[in-house]
Amino acid sequence: MAEGILVFIEQRQGKIRKASLEALSEAYKQAKTAGGNVTALIVGKDVKSLAGTLPKYHPHKVLVVDGADFENYSTDAYANALAEGVKSVSPKYVFAANTSMAKDLIARVAARLDAPCVSDVTDFESEGNNLLARRPQFSGKAYTVFEFNSPLAFMTLRPNVFAVQESSNNVNCPIEDLQVAAGDIKARVTETHASAGNKIELSEASIIVSGGRGIKGPENWPVLQNLCDALGAALGASRAVVDAGWIDHQHQVGQTGKTVSPQLYIACGISGAIQHLAGMNSSKVIVAINNNPDAEIFKHATYGIVGDCLDVVPKLTEEIKKLHANN
Ligand SMILES: Cc1cc2nc3c(=O)[nH]c(=O)nc-3n(C[C@H](O)[C@H](O)[C@H](O)COP(=O)(O)OP(=O)(O)OC[C@H]3O[C@@H](n4cnc5c(N)ncnc54)[C@H](O)[C@@H]3O)c2cc1C
Repeated sequence: MAEGILVFIEQRQGKIRKASLEALSEAYKQAKTAGGNVTALIVGKDVKSLAGTLPKYHPHKVLVVDGADFENYSTDAYANALAEGVKSVSPKYVFAANTSMAKDLIARVAARLDAPCVSDVTDFESEGNNLLARRPQFSGKAYTVFEFNSPLAFMTLRPNVFAVQESSNNVNCPIEDLQVAAGDIKARVTETHASAGNKIELSEASIIVSGGRGIKGPENWPVLQNLCDALGAALGASRAVVDAGWIDHQHQVGQTGKTVSPQLYIACGISGAIQHLAGMNSSKVIVAINNNPDAEIFKHATYGIVGDCLDVVPKLTEEIKKLHANN
């Protein structure tokens, strides 16, 4: 009988995604309800040393698929690796972080194995030994709770929602190679170029400063970037400014951009359209800076500042720099 949880661990260029560690930590917590073991699966080229860092997140076993064909992400090769991982441990559930890679991979493998798949899970409930997955709908206005009537179910977990639980003790668990043929790779990534834009990955950032049409023009991004640098934040944007060509789409937050859940989201000159809120309203603290006191964003903000963001943001940046200097 299927039991336990298999967690797909995403790595890029030799670095494990924090959101994968969140998924692994949550699997350990949920396995107490669901029963069975937690297995972490890592795929890539020369990833054995990375696999060695995983035991402190409490898996019972780590599976490693290592080979030149897995150096860069390809749907075909990685789907074969994950499907083989599922075959090897027969889990009841498969978890992954809700990233663009996982959205592609998990749906593919779930379809191949004729299993259900729920994306962007933000909470779990339980019914006996079964997990129920909760996810927001309609831009967070409602929640759906899914129950699974199948021996296997796939879920992706929203980044920054679940805590990473790391053991401070020396923890060991078996680390085993899993031999997988990459198979027929129909599309192969030959090169990747990091964009100079976002220094911190938006979907995993714990602080985001976002700009909308209220920043007046692309020449004013440095005003927001200075605040980002002072706070160690990632730079986000509304769709209006992406469509206007002021900034690249990779910065866009919202329904047709990225979903983010930072500790702190600072919205500068953003009106608070429902499609923007869809991407950020699960942020823990929302600060809105807008010159219109009736702007919709204030209804969703923890703190609101009525004023010109090009005036307020530099003052905020100076104050934060002073705080850093005094500490
Ligand atoms: C299918 C669909 C999908 C969409 N997906 C997305 C999405 O993913 N993300 C997204 O963001 N939008 C999305 N949109 C667009 C969305 O509806 C809004 O048009 C967009 O979010 C508005 O961007 P904005 O807040 O920057 O601009 P505006 O709505 O023009 O708001 C600008 C705000 O800045 C304020 N302001 C002006 N000057 C200043 C100043 N000097 N200082 C401070 N405040 C000032 C104004 O009071 C106003 O509130 C989508 C729309 C559709 C139809």
